[in-house]
Amino acid sequence: MQIPSLAYHRICSGFQIGLNGIPPSRFKSHISGLAKLGLQGKTTFDRLDSNSVLITFDDGYECVYDFAYPICENYNFKGIVFAITDYTGKTNSWDINFKFNQHKHLNAQMLKTLSDNGWEIASHGCHHKSYSGLKYSEVYADMAISKEILEQLTGKPVQSFTTPFNMMVPIVFPIAEELGYKNIFVQKSISNVKYNTPLEVYERRFVYSMDKFKTILKKIENSSRLELYKENFIHFCSTATIGAKEFI
Ligand SMILES: [Zn+2]
Repeated sequence: MQIPSLAYHRICSGFQIGLNGIPPSRFKSHISGLAKLGLQGKTTFDRLDSNSVLITFDDGYECVYDFAYPICENYNFKGIVFAITDYTGKTNSWDINFKFNQHKHLNAQMLKTLSDNGWEIASHGCHHKSYSGLKYSEVYADMAISKEILEQLTGKPVQSFTTPFNMMVPIVFPIAEELGYKNIFVQKSISNVKYNTPLEVYERRFVYSMDKFKTILKKIENSSRLELYKENFIHFCSTATIGAKEFI
């Protein structure tokens, strides 16, 4: 059974550059809409069933604690945060727009509070560099060290992982298996990629600032090919900026 999984980044008000910031009121409409359908936000620590949905947050921004967490609590939804350990409590500097688009990451206490309240703290690596240019040993270290740091911080196993920029390289699967990860979260692609791994692979649908609840519903129902094309196109554009960033 493929559990529907949504990928958010920032939940924040005010002027935004890019497509990853979602106003809290819009996020609330997503969560209340899902709750009205009888769906429940869970983590991979919970027993998952056909009413489960995985609400994930990439990069671990502070606004997830300020805005998404209380909204989720209101509907008894739990979330999954993919944290970047080198940036705990710090401002992002890896974003292409960082000069205009600075955002704080969750600090250690916030991550612990979320974990203590039933949220899953998962790994997004240490430094958020694209794996496509890294050696095996560098990918291994990024996945191993981030896991260890988050386990010490939360006192719980870190069993889920997603790659920086959602750029997949095949070595991620054997390394994840060796390190004791159980779940890999990927971006759903237009073609039906099959992953040859004993790990659980969750195919996420990405949520962008313009997405209203009816779009979320299409993503959950997996029914709209147009939506998938849109997500893949936006991902293509954002990964094109990774190369640019390296020259800045
Ligand atoms: Zn990321």
